[in-house]
Amino acid sequence: MTEIPGRFTIAIDGPAGAGKSTVGERLAKRLHAVYFDTGVLYRAVTLAALRRNIPPDDADALAELAGKLVVAVKRPSCDDGRQSDVLIDGEDVTWEIRSASVDHNVSEVSAHPGVRAALLDAQRRIGRSGRVVMVGRDIGTAVLPDAEVKIYLLASLQERARRRYEQLRFAGSTPDFDDILEEMRRRDTIDSERAASPLRPAADAVLVDTDGCSIDDVVDRIAAIAEVRLGDVVEAGQPT
Ligand code: C5P
Repeated sequence: MTEIPGRFTIAIDGPAGAGKSTVGERLAKRLHAVYFDTGVLYRAVTLAALRRNIPPDDADALAELAGKLVVAVKRPSCDDGRQSDVLIDGEDVTWEIRSASVDHNVSEVSAHPGVRAALLDAQRRIGRSGRVVMVGRDIGTAVLPDAEVKIYLLASLQERARRRYEQLRFAGSTPDFDDILEEMRRRDTIDSERAASPLRPAADAVLVDTDGCSIDDVVDRIAAIAEVRLGDVVEAGQPT
C-alpha cells in the first residue's frame, strides 16, 4: 500500500442496510483506523426518549435530552457479535438500541435540527481524532465536509431488506420480509426528506453500488479509492 497519512477521515454514508457498518469496520481494520458508527448516537437518544415517554415529535424535549445524555462508545467487552459497547449513563444498551421500537422511532427523532446540533461536536471531535472511518447519513455533507475520502454506498431497497432479513434470521429471530422492507422504505423517506442535513451523497462523494457484490469486493473497491486519494494527500503534503 502507498504511504497514508497519520490522520484522515473516510466518510461512508448511505441508506439503512447498504452495508456501511460491516464494510466500514473491515475497512478500518485494514487501514489501522478507528471505526465509528454515528447511528448509535441517534439510537441512544431515541432509546432514552422512549424510556422517558418523550414523544418523537417533541423537538424541544428531544434536543434537551440529546444535549445532556452521556453516551459512551467503547471497544467491545464481549464476543457476541457487537462492534462496540454502547453505554447510556454507564448502562450497557448495545442490543437495546437495535430493538424494533428504536428502529421505528429513530428517524423521526433524528430529523429534529436541535437533536442533530447537540450531537455534532462529539462527532466532529471523533472524526478528527486520528485515522477514522466514520459511517452515517450526513458525514460527508455536514459532519465532516472536509473528509479526505467520501463514499456513498448504494443498494436497492429489495437487496437491503434481504440483507437485514438474513441478519435477523441468523441472530435467531423469525422476521417478516415485507415488514422489514416497509420499515426501511419509511426510514429512507424520512431520512432523505428531512430539512436538516438530509441523506444524500456529497457532491464530491464516490458512489459505490453494492448490489450483487460481496462484502470483500466492496471493501477492496473502497480501499483502492482511499489509497489513491490518501496517497495524493501525502504527496501534496497537505496538512492532515
Ligand atoms: O445507521 P443506523 O440505521 O443505525 O441509523 C439509525 C438512524 O439514525 C437513521 O435511520 C437516521 O435517522 C439516523 N442517523 C442520522 N444521521 C447519521 C446517522 C444516523 O440521521 N449520521
